[in-house]
Amino acid sequence: FPTVSVLNIPFINTTNQAFIAQLSKDLAANENRFIVTANPEIALYATKHNDYFQTISQADYITPDGIGILKGATMLGTPLTERITGFDTMTALFEIANQNSYSVYLLGAKEEVLQAACQNVAKQYPNVTIVGQHNGYFDDQEEQKIVADIERTQPNIILAALGFPKQETFIEANRHKVNAIWMGVGGSFDVLSG
Ligand code: UDP
Repeated sequence: FPTVSVLNIPFINTTNQAFIAQLSKDLAANENRFIVTANPEIALYATKHNDYFQTISQADYITPDGIGILKGATMLGTPLTERITGFDTMTALFEIANQNSYSVYLLGAKEEVLQAACQNVAKQYPNVTIVGQHNGYFDDQEEQKIVADIERTQPNIILAALGFPKQETFIEANRHKVNAIWMGVGGSFDVLSG
């Protein structure tokens, strides 16, 4: 996709529809993809923390997740087409997964939130296989087990709801182990659980 830079971050300049169509192709081809849905908080944090800036620079797609990013782009004279949010993208991925019987791994949030989110996924997307899940509060030793679990189960989609910068750091460190769509989804499991 063409990109528009705001705060030195190259945001994809496309529609939700075209983005989802691309993700559908990526899944069918078993590509390795890292999605960052960047809101203004993430963008500002990246300007102040170079290690995080380097991490998100490894993403295949950085989407403008927030009206503030669109306003910034317009002020710079290079407007972005539309907002692409983490929640909408996650929902679209579940729909694609349901149509194609893809598998997902859900990582993050508090245990009860995660369990409720898994139940809702099972109910709303009956053809999706949840091959694994873990809450977002783990130590280094547990992290190794989570990564081994992801490697063993080979999910098509890995959703990390750990908040930033943790979710992107986790993805960048581990994405090479499985060809999948890896996306940080922030507080989306909390919404999905409700
Ligand atoms: N979270 C987590 N592990 C952590 C910190 C946060 O799983 O170590 C979860 C938290 O429970 C929530 C999600 O990350 O479900 C997103 O948190 P927040 O809304 O603060 O992040 P944002 O959406 O702003 O990235």
